[in-house]
Amino acid sequence: MNVLLLGSGGREHALAWALSASPLLTKLFCAPGNAGIADVAQCIPIDPTNQDSIIQFCRDERIQLVVIGPEAPLVAGLGDALGAAGIRYFGPTKSAARLEGSKGFTKDLCRTAGIPTAAYGRFMDPQAAKTYLAAQSLPIVVKADGLAAGKGVIIATTREEAEAAVDACLSGAFGSAGAEVVIEEFLEGEEASFFALCDGVHALPLVSAQDHKRVGDGDTGPNTGGMGAYSPAPIITPEMSDRVMREIIEPTIKEMAARGTPFKGVLFAGLMITSSGPKLIEYNVRFGDPETQVLMMRLKSDLLAALIATTDGVLSNFDLRWSDDAALTVVMAANGYPGTPQKGTEIKGLELAQATPNVEIFHAGTRRDGARLIADGGRVLNVTGRGKTIAEARDAAYAAIAKIDWPGGFYRKDIGWRALQRNET
Ligand code: AMP
Repeated sequence: MNVLLLGSGGREHALAWALSASPLLTKLFCAPGNAGIADVAQCIPIDPTNQDSIIQFCRDERIQLVVIGPEAPLVAGLGDALGAAGIRYFGPTKSAARLEGSKGFTKDLCRTAGIPTAAYGRFMDPQAAKTYLAAQSLPIVVKADGLAAGKGVIIATTREEAEAAVDACLSGAFGSAGAEVVIEEFLEGEEASFFALCDGVHALPLVSAQDHKRVGDGDTGPNTGGMGAYSPAPIITPEMSDRVMREIIEPTIKEMAARGTPFKGVLFAGLMITSSGPKLIEYNVRFGDPETQVLMMRLKSDLLAALIATTDGVLSNFDLRWSDDAALTVVMAANGYPGTPQKGTEIKGLELAQATPNVEIFHAGTRRDGARLIADGGRVLNVTGRGKTIAEARDAAYAAIAKIDWPGGFYRKDIGWRALQRNET
């Protein structure tokens, strides 16, 4: 089977790495890919949002499955365009991708289906938003409704800050993503990432993961796309996983199907585990980055077969096998991230680092310049370790990092601290 994977990050390198091990695979292409993905797939310079070029490429190369990594092409309706052209794809349609594309849509769906989530209001008028705000307790969360590349969420600790966030959002700080604002109750608890493959009717949970969103050690500093992740997440016990499936994932799948917009693909629930149980913070309609890197380290089953079963609507007959090992990934980012990352610096020592036992290094933002490896993004490398415990996986990842010579980059030294602290007590 010829497969086309879309995207260029560490998530896509991890997916490409897993797909390339499939006995069902004939040839793997990736658009646009990166220097690491080029080791396991043929990279082609097509922009994942260019629907016509992708469809043409699929016809030319007889692609039998397109795996769509990032959210933007999904929310823009690439799935529908591929479907109309008779090309099989993994991911939701545009209507189903609203679960990520509009926070207000998802909040309303939660209300209809009785899914636990933070209390909220939706507003397009700043005055109405401020009237609502005046009656809420602090802190309070202000969100741009649409896709804002992880930047459209403000946790306000004062009323002035909240009002300023409303004004900024509704006056275009996040472009069209902020034409509507969602104001949400602040949830207290521990966050976890929950993934399930969904074929429109059935959902199959994956193993759990947790990530670190803040740039600095001790979970300090600005939010990022994610500075590291580990799996399993100790807070997602088997009982908690059953509860999340029953109270959050399954009612969502049922409601989407009832509306005539069944969800197919991977549903990624950002959860807050509160004292009264799991609550949905947000949905994403694609694999997480960097959570996918640790999930793929633990997946024993054939990923390609699982994606096909999802796409073909036969997940109820499918099961996934996972390694009992833990996995942990540390993101190495370019200096300046998450502000303006410095591009173009050289990375050395990667081959030596890659030879570390129980380590895979996924590239997130790299390119080759002859034999030299060059940083070409904010998040640049995902150094991923495996071990019997999270502590062992962490030690493997940091042992590999110690061999990487890259003055142009930095990383957090404490990935996994919450899980490790819990295991020690
Ligand atoms: P989101 O983009 O919706 O996942 O939000 C980004 C981050 O903001 C989340 O990972 C949480 O850490 C935080 N956050 C979002 N909504 C809430 C909420 N209602 N209560 C507490 N924290 C939140």
